[in-house]
Amino acid sequence: MSTVEERLKHIKESIQLACGRSDRNPEEVTIIAVTKSVGTKRAEEVLAAGIPDLGENRKEGLDEKQPAIGDAARWHFIGNLQSRRVKDIVNRVDMIHSLDRGSLAREIQKRADHPVDCFVQVNVSGEDSKAGVIPEETEPFVRSLADHDKIRVVGLMTMAPNTNDEEVIRRTFRGLRELRDRISALDLPHAPCTELSMGMSNDFGIAVEEGATHVRIGTAIVGYESGERP
Ligand SMILES: *Cc1c(COP(=O)(O)O)cnc(C)c1O
Repeated sequence: MSTVEERLKHIKESIQLACGRSDRNPEEVTIIAVTKSVGTKRAEEVLAAGIPDLGENRKEGLDEKQPAIGDAARWHFIGNLQSRRVKDIVNRVDMIHSLDRGSLAREIQKRADHPVDCFVQVNVSGEDSKAGVIPEETEPFVRSLADHDKIRVVGLMTMAPNTNDEEVIRRTFRGLRELRDRISALDLPHAPCTELSMGMSNDFGIAVEEGATHVRIGTAIVGYESGERP
């Protein structure tokens, strides 16, 4: 049996080692605990263990947990966001990690009551199944958001391909970092684009080595709702 606290200790150690290997400061890495597949009680254990950043991918997850947790957490919306769902979530989350098309940007612009910190999701690996802007279109897309005063592009987000090939995963994360570097160098007022949201339970070590500032870790922190990790 392991607890959230024990799993978290292990993850923090892994992040520290990855930072050591890449000459980074662990304080640059925000751990987002993805609580989409567990209930409020487990999310509260995560907060009690010292992680205030929670990731959810559905309105229902927010509906369930926010009444109990509210402002004690910073709420991250991760994963596919349907335009028709924007009005239900946009003023209830602190960051959106999945901005990947103009129609979604227009809906955020229309529905947000304040400027929202967004990551532009990029499909670096080019897999058909993955959401995201293709790398070549990322800069034009970010530039196109200049007239959306409710959107602030804080960084880029990607998901690595589902493979055990570490080099393929690393290349994906490195590709996102290079793209981030190019866009942040443009000094666009609406797009500081300094952050990198990448790395999940199986690949966060590589992501940190490649510069992740936000890792989105689900099962490796929260386990599974019924029982522990297999
Ligand atoms: C579920 C999810 C995660 C976390 O995945 P784990 O493998 O459980 O760590 C991270 N990012 C996104 C976009 C997700 O949907």
